[in-house]
Amino acid sequence: MPSKFLSFISGLLFPANCILCRTCHPEASGEPLCPDCFAKISMNRPPFCLRCSRHLEEHVPDGECEDCRRKPPFFDYAWSCAKYEGIMKELIPLFKFRQKTSLRKTFRHLASDFFRQYPVTFPGASCLVPIPLHPARERERGYNQATLFARECSSLTGIPVNDALLQRTRGTRAQSELDAKERWTNIKGAFKIKPSSKVREKHVILVDDLLTTGATAGEAARALKAAGASRVGVLTIAIA
Ligand SMILES: [Zn+2]
Ligand SMILES: [Zn+2]
Repeated sequence: MPSKFLSFISGLLFPANCILCRTCHPEASGEPLCPDCFAKISMNRPPFCLRCSRHLEEHVPDGECEDCRRKPPFFDYAWSCAKYEGIMKELIPLFKFRQKTSLRKTFRHLASDFFRQYPVTFPGASCLVPIPLHPARERERGYNQATLFARECSSLTGIPVNDALLQRTRGTRAQSELDAKERWTNIKGAFKIKPSSKVREKHVILVDDLLTTGATAGEAARALKAAGASRVGVLTIAIA
């Protein structure tokens, strides 16, 4: 029965059930998340730290949080669209570890709302650079979640993705298994810049799923700055 078969296939490709609450929402067919669940995402709201994007309880004179003033990160600024709390703690692991790549659509809507609300611009940025996975890990997973999000952001901003610029030189333990101090030692020296790449005097934006201690983004930014990048920003789906 071809029509039944087709609807079975399209049900697999475009599940009408919300990935989280499992309710059917035919009006949002093709979307992984229903509008009710999407509304539960807690957006990252101002005042933000201008350096690391962390939400501040109140405005501070120079716009930077205490951590950034004490130990400035290697990146110049960061934007994170949502807070890593509530349903975001389910969505990111699904996107990253459970093959739920259709969530890129949800994160695109999120980024689009965030860019419009604040408004976020990236003047002079030459490319979006997803934080690379080690090739073995990417092969095993079948995709890099940071690249998927970077492509969505590219189509929203018009800034091209360059996923060959930054390379992972060695496998590292998953940062999520480590405490703050271990994260810095684990990631140190884990990135290199492709030798032929033209990064000198360029403004580059690193893209990742989650900003936690800033160790990974900081180390990647350090490598880019060492190769001559003039400005390095960070863009993530969420901030912990
Ligand atoms: Zn739902
Ligand atoms: Zn900060």
